[in-house]
Amino acid sequence: MSAPPTDPRPWPFVEAERLMEAVSGDAPGREVVFETGYGPSGLPHIGTFSEVARTTFVRRAFTHLTGRPSRLVAFSDDMDGLRKVPLNIPNPEVVRPHLGKPLTSVPDPFGTDASYADHMNRRLREFLDRFGFEYEFRSSTRQYRAGVFNEGLLRILERAQAVRSVIVPTLGGGERERREDWSPFFPVCPSCGRVYTTRVTAYHPGRGSISFACDAVYAEFRGCGEAGEIPVTDGGTKVGWKVDWALRWWTFGVDYEMYGKDLIESAAASSRIVEILGGRPPVGSFYEMFLDESGQKISKSVGKGITVDSWLEYGPVGSLLHYLYQSPRKAKKLTYDAIPKAVDEYLDQLRRLPATPEAERPGIPAWFFQEGEAPRWTSRLDWSLVRNLVACLGVHDEEVILGYLARYDPAISAPENEAMARSLVAGAIAFDRDFEAPHRSFRAPTGEEAPLLRALADRIAGSEGQDADEVQALSFDVAREAGVPPKVLFQAVYEGLLGQSRGPRLGSFVLALGRDEAVARLRALAGREGSGA
Ligand SMILES: [Zn+2]
Repeated sequence: MSAPPTDPRPWPFVEAERLMEAVSGDAPGREVVFETGYGPSGLPHIGTFSEVARTTFVRRAFTHLTGRPSRLVAFSDDMDGLRKVPLNIPNPEVVRPHLGKPLTSVPDPFGTDASYADHMNRRLREFLDRFGFEYEFRSSTRQYRAGVFNEGLLRILERAQAVRSVIVPTLGGGERERREDWSPFFPVCPSCGRVYTTRVTAYHPGRGSISFACDAVYAEFRGCGEAGEIPVTDGGTKVGWKVDWALRWWTFGVDYEMYGKDLIESAAASSRIVEILGGRPPVGSFYEMFLDESGQKISKSVGKGITVDSWLEYGPVGSLLHYLYQSPRKAKKLTYDAIPKAVDEYLDQLRRLPATPEAERPGIPAWFFQEGEAPRWTSRLDWSLVRNLVACLGVHDEEVILGYLARYDPAISAPENEAMARSLVAGAIAFDRDFEAPHRSFRAPTGEEAPLLRALADRIAGSEGQDADEVQALSFDVAREAGVPPKVLFQAVYEGLLGQSRGPRLGSFVLALGRDEAVARLRALAGREGSGA
């Protein structure tokens, strides 16, 4: 079934229409700017991936609707100071003495790049490139130092009191005591290099500069005592982060950005600052956060929860994109249990796409997942069948499993399906090894079940059809004739052959296993009647 993009309207189109309206008065042909933000204090994680992916979905919808040129800026906040030592980095002792310095001035704990931020930025780009995202990377530090932000910084200096009046009421927690002397500017101390030990003591808009003192305490570090006057331009000073967000929106003319729900109020404040600077705030949209098994927000600095790479060990990238595509406004537990359903729904979409009229294809999520044609998948095979076959055979040999599957559906050997089939098998084996095999327990049939299994084996042996529905019907016949609900028979098969209480459609499963082998296994299972295991 293919839903046309009008009913229900896919959310990226709803977003794209909001954006269309906002930019409708622009000069024709003006490039529309999408932005995503990255805090390089930790490694790129699934939240980073998700934000870029979702923004890209909106961008594709926008291009589809308008044909207008656009670009996506992936902005790294690498001028931010390092606030704490992340738990998931090597050699924390290399980093610790540099707390409070801009991330581009902290050494690389991995020992491979010029700085902490250079390392994280490279990892981000490699990560995004692997998935073919189209974006332009921007380092905050480079923009500051190259003077790209100068005009905006001078405006902030002129309007410092107005900016203060937006931010000061939002300060909470540990920042509250700083209300009196809170400044939009965070000078980078020219002597000790820290950005969180300085404070602004006077503004000199006429000279484009501020006076500062490096005398505050951050973590276990006290300011070095330096004081003086420095320009706000060319990287000598950064602005506080909500101001920073506004500064880049204003400078790059950002039209659209998504952010986590926890940033709704920050985005509102930043939007007001863009207006103070004389610009138009972007269309913003929030998404809900991902939670780990225990219901905690997935965090880049602790590194808990499922990672992109671990998901990809089991399911294709499209299955992850499909999972991220669904209802971004719903908090989701990102756990391994989500993978099987996501993989099968994704395969189903790939099967439907080519048969769907072009105009209705955007109603299928997989349409959004890449530029141009989606991968083809013309096999009827789904992942749950592959996993059940792995469970029943108890073998973790890709070639053996592929052999069974090719007999069940020769289409998997077709050139367009081969790579996907192989990855589904490899993923099923890994998933079985890591999650399913450890919890599996096989059960021998009871005295009531054993004759049902024998009867089913006889029926299958005596049938010839290669149609899963026909084989399925045999199991209903056996149950009906014995006067038991079909569930009793299915349960005995699943728990006896798969070691789990739920299973695949029996018809498909028998054909995947091969008629003769299915018969032999059912008879052997019946023979274990009452044996306990
Ligand atoms: Zn200092």
